[in-house]
Amino acid sequence: MQEFQKHIIIIGSGVAGLAAAVRLSAAGHKVTVLEANKYVGGKLTAQTLGNYRFDMGPSVFTLPGLIEDLTKVSGSDKKFEYLALDKICHYFYEDGTTLIAYTDKNKFAQEVETKLGENQQDVFDQLKYSATAYELTAEIFMESSLHKLSTFLNLKTVKAILNIGKLKMNKTMHQLNSARFKNPKTVQLFNRFATYNGSDPYQAPAIINIIAHLEHNIGAFAPKHGMHDITNYIYDLSIKLGVTYKLNTKVKHINTINDTAVGIITDSGEIKADIVVSDVDIKQLYTKLLDKKYYPEKILSQEKSLSALIFYWGIKKEFKELSLHNILFSNTGETEFKCMFTDKQPYNDPTTYINITSKVTSGDAPKGCENWFVMVNVPHNASGDPINYVQEMRKHIIAKINRVLKTDIERYIEVEDVLDPYNIEQRTGSSGGSLYGNSSNNKYAAFLRHANNSSKIKNLYFCGGSVHPGGGIPLGLLSAKIVSEMIAQKE
Ligand SMILES: Cc1cc2nc3c(=O)[nH]c(=O)nc-3n(C[C@H](O)[C@H](O)[C@H](O)COP(=O)(O)OP(=O)(O)OC[C@H]3O[C@@H](n4cnc5c(N)ncnc54)[C@H](O)[C@@H]3O)c2cc1C
Repeated sequence: MQEFQKHIIIIGSGVAGLAAAVRLSAAGHKVTVLEANKYVGGKLTAQTLGNYRFDMGPSVFTLPGLIEDLTKVSGSDKKFEYLALDKICHYFYEDGTTLIAYTDKNKFAQEVETKLGENQQDVFDQLKYSATAYELTAEIFMESSLHKLSTFLNLKTVKAILNIGKLKMNKTMHQLNSARFKNPKTVQLFNRFATYNGSDPYQAPAIINIIAHLEHNIGAFAPKHGMHDITNYIYDLSIKLGVTYKLNTKVKHINTINDTAVGIITDSGEIKADIVVSDVDIKQLYTKLLDKKYYPEKILSQEKSLSALIFYWGIKKEFKELSLHNILFSNTGETEFKCMFTDKQPYNDPTTYINITSKVTSGDAPKGCENWFVMVNVPHNASGDPINYVQEMRKHIIAKINRVLKTDIERYIEVEDVLDPYNIEQRTGSSGGSLYGNSSNNKYAAFLRHANNSSKIKNLYFCGGSVHPGGGIPLGLLSAKIVSEMIAQKE
């Protein structure tokens, strides 16, 4: 019989929970994952409507090396299949201007010069800034725990501190971008990267431009069989390693004795564990699964990231002018963000993202048709009540698509489903349906996220989008790596 080192319970099977299961199981632990839903993957899931397949949540895929890392750790010889994209995104503006963001930097800079009148050198400088920010900070802020002294006592950190001027920490993203580019359309294009972690470019620090580095300097990719394949692939790795899954199993409480996690409670009773790892939204975890005395007031009152309203439409027509990723920009810049972050309202001329996986995976829609994932950002749902603006926003979105693409899109919608912030919270436990945990609107956001372990409860660890290093698939995968390293160091 196999001798396990420890019994580790993972609560939640989001992408970070799955990755943690692979890493901890490969390290020799007995791992049990408890998942409230009847499926694994959390936000990274999919559905079929009629003859159309839809990814339900994430659509942008960067840093595939993080998945290849899991392949290596698990010892599997089955590759994760993905494509490198030559076009990152098609951008559309209300005045008829269109622009293709090519992966090839020269072609992209030339396109920005031709369509938006910028100097190519300014585009190169912008991408260089993103690259420098990444090189100086990624290892410290994304790949390490910020809550260990050793992170701050190494050469990388000293280098980052010496180069802090280059990061322009006292500027917002918008200030940096509008100082560099003369055309507000270019500024809008680069500002949009703030929404990749649910933030506001008019408040978020300039360093959030780091996100553009992932797509424009490292590369944009698409899993060969859709985003849901990320979930399926990591889940399969974990199954081969012997991880046990209990689905339809909501954890009600984490048991502690002398401020040490010793197991969990579900409707079926107690399960003992040596270590508990939570992939649950950190606010939900403290309010629903732990005793009140552990509640870290300051961390949990921070501003949440944006949420989203998504329509899944089977479209019985092909739009040649669209590609995998498409953005129809709002006709206003700042007003859209002010509406969402200050007034906490959805905006009536929303920047509209259309993702069409059938452009790269032909089986995702019938011949001559396309599977449209149409998403607009909306504020997180602070009240927790069902959303009442879905139909009104649907009208605004349809009007926008019709104006920009010169079509009558409703005629072509064959099947439809919708996901709003309320459903996102119901299905994944994410507070207010926020997509990425806390916003990064504050320049200290990286330091204010919850750590990957508990300072008050021994043997309790945290991964996932609501804790360090932050939201999104890459950072979720990194949180799982940090947690498994912390556990290894404790042994
Ligand atoms: C519409 C949308 C678009 C997005 N776009 C992108 C994108 O393009 N690129 C990108 O990188 N990221 C994107 N994201 C963000 C990304 O999906 C998340 O950051 C990431 O998937 C979160 O993973 P997680 O591990 O934190 O867990 P989650 O996916 O949040 O899952 C948590 C899991 O825990 C389970 N759970 C909760 N409470 C309990 C309990 N008490 N007991 C048992 N189980 C429990 C839930 O059922 C759920 O399965 C998007 C998200 C959404 C919703």
